[in-house]
Amino acid sequence: MYAEVILPVPVGRSFTYAIPAVCADIIKVGCKVSVPFGRNKLHTGIVLSLHENPCSNAFEIKEIRELLGSEPVVGEKDLRLWEWIADYYMCALGDVMKAALPSAVKQTGNVKVKKELHVKLADRLFDKTALNETFESLQKTPRRYALLRKLVEMTSFDTAIKLNNRNLIRQVSRAQLLHESNTSAAVLLGLKAKGIIEIYEYEVLPQQNSTGSIVDMLPLSDSQQKALDEIVNIHSHKSVCLLHGVTSSGKTEIYIRLILQMAAQGKQVLYLLPEIALTTQITQRLRRVFGDEMGVYHSRCTDAERLEIWQKQRSDKPFQLIVGVRSSIFLPQKNLGLVIVDEEHETSYKQQEPAPRYNARDTAIMLAHIHNARVLLGSATPSIETYHNTTLGKYGYVKLDQRYGGIMLPQIDVVDVQDLVRRKIMNQPFSPMLEQEMQQALEHGEQVILFQNRRGYAPVVECVQCGWIPTCEYCDVSLTYHHEDQKLHCHYCGNSFPIPAKCPNCGGHDLRSYGFGTEKIEVEVHKRFPKARTARLDLDTTRSRGSYSKIIDDFAQGKTDILIGTQMVSKGLDFGNVRTVGILDADTMLNRPDFRCHERAYQMMAQVAGRAGRRNRRGHVILQTRRADNPLISQVVNGDYISMFQEQMLQRQQFYYPPFYRLIYVWLKHRNEVVVNKSALMMTRLMQQAFGGGVLGPDRPAVARINMLHIRKIALKVAASPRVSPTEVRKKLRTIAEQVTSVPGLHSTMIFFDVDPL
Ligand SMILES: [Zn+2]
Ligand SMILES: [Zn+2]
Repeated sequence: MYAEVILPVPVGRSFTYAIPAVCADIIKVGCKVSVPFGRNKLHTGIVLSLHENPCSNAFEIKEIRELLGSEPVVGEKDLRLWEWIADYYMCALGDVMKAALPSAVKQTGNVKVKKELHVKLADRLFDKTALNETFESLQKTPRRYALLRKLVEMTSFDTAIKLNNRNLIRQVSRAQLLHESNTSAAVLLGLKAKGIIEIYEYEVLPQQNSTGSIVDMLPLSDSQQKALDEIVNIHSHKSVCLLHGVTSSGKTEIYIRLILQMAAQGKQVLYLLPEIALTTQITQRLRRVFGDEMGVYHSRCTDAERLEIWQKQRSDKPFQLIVGVRSSIFLPQKNLGLVIVDEEHETSYKQQEPAPRYNARDTAIMLAHIHNARVLLGSATPSIETYHNTTLGKYGYVKLDQRYGGIMLPQIDVVDVQDLVRRKIMNQPFSPMLEQEMQQALEHGEQVILFQNRRGYAPVVECVQCGWIPTCEYCDVSLTYHHEDQKLHCHYCGNSFPIPAKCPNCGGHDLRSYGFGTEKIEVEVHKRFPKARTARLDLDTTRSRGSYSKIIDDFAQGKTDILIGTQMVSKGLDFGNVRTVGILDADTMLNRPDFRCHERAYQMMAQVAGRAGRRNRRGHVILQTRRADNPLISQVVNGDYISMFQEQMLQRQQFYYPPFYRLIYVWLKHRNEVVVNKSALMMTRLMQQAFGGGVLGPDRPAVARINMLHIRKIALKVAASPRVSPTEVRKKLRTIAEQVTSVPGLHSTMIFFDVDPL
């Protein structure tokens, strides 16, 4: 008997091992095993299949060293999804395994549970007299007295004494107690020394314990009810449906109804969101309805949290609802009924680095197919591909074009910056109209969102004398000045550099910065509106856990007046008091050399505009551009998705792009530029022989060196027609890559594929 074993290595599919007699009867597909690999190194792998015929290869077949548990950790359906991903996205099965399994499941050793320090009153104080005497003894140390008072209050200790029931004592963490009592740790230790309190370790459960309530649901409007009925109807005969609902149309409430319907049939739901950034508001909403029946899975979960969700999903009582980011498509599912992909157009569903470079939206459709489940894609600005599939009848289509509560879509005014600058009546970055709007919003206690899709202070730094521009030492990219640490940052590799005292090219001393990043916008806001309370939402301000939620919560509660941010502010957030949204510079979005640039620009602007609007008055969007005559601008102004779609489709057809052609990028990387050039040329030649005219390149990408590695790119366009087999194409590509790396001198070239790149 032999087993095919998947190992977490970036090569190949699976590896054949002999099954020792001791475990021959108990080993199953999906079990975890320990096997020797390479130079006597032990690896943990997953059994993919069992068979009796070893392929006749030159290698000696080794034996499985140990069976790690007789129960499978991965289900057969999960393995089918893994195989599909490895095949479709052209990567090793081991890459998929690495992405899919939480590290705690992969490890052979024990799992660490997250522990927190908690505080409780000494047991002997569970007595009214004893407690009172203790308080009296603390009369002369008021801070200790106050701290104990707070602890009694937070633990409900006196209520518990009164009712003589220790179960009523609540858990209080040390951090929470110190925070709420505003006391130092020294005071706490003083009480501990006197034996009044005890500090102990407590195992923290990742999911908050709360029971949801179906009572806590908002009534559906007529149009929501109609959309819900249509979705249910479509799902009776089609597996995928698009819900095209304008911003603030209340898609979440429809999702909640669908999840409840699934739960009633004993089925589970997977609800995908593009990033954790988005989940705060929505998870809070869902938690109120689903309570403990809901698991939340995202990139900032600890290993213990991931393991617990994984184990619960494999148990007899899995979560009714999993809300998660793209990697949650790998969670085990018992009886999956529905996958919801919210904001399906979002690019963050696609994993860029490392392999597997999968798109979670498209993978979700395969996942649902394997489980015979349904898929609901939701968006106010669907991706061209998805909308195209609805026009072909492949996906069902439901439109929801009324905002919840009858709120009107915002009015969008275009400001022609070109003209204003020429007439010298505009000081960057705010046009007079925007400045006036901001003024009025502040006077009325209303809020403003400013959208600038560049972080940092100034995107361009230049020597006034010779035009020299500082670039990254490790990447071919210019640096962005950040005011906060007064350094030049590389947005590709993350390194930062001091500002040179003089120009290294001409020795000049006048280095100037141009352009506006979010940091500089905030400085400009302070100059003009010194009293305004501002916050910034970009990659730099949201690195630490919880910082994103804090910025959003503060804004939602009116603690800040003006929120300045990158595309992060365009993500499905709901605020009730935003009078004005300013799109400061639409042009940076329109000028990118990418065939999806206009689609993205439309999505971003329509989404950010959708944040404007108050509970009872129409919101106002001011869109600043130098290209007011660009057709895309009027499509945004009129909310005319269909025109944008049709125009983009014409261009895609004309220039051989998706959805008419399938796109695969071949990336080659090497530290040595000569080697990477040779490999790229050979790869291109072989691809041209195999595929003919659809091969473009090799190109030096816009950033042709990142982290010391030289990069080349080859694009392959293959007609999306039934006559061309994508499987054949992928097979040929793999063979060609192997041919290139078998040439002496080129073997260390890294070659990888990006299928359906974004
Ligand atoms: Zn210079
Ligand atoms: Zn760099």
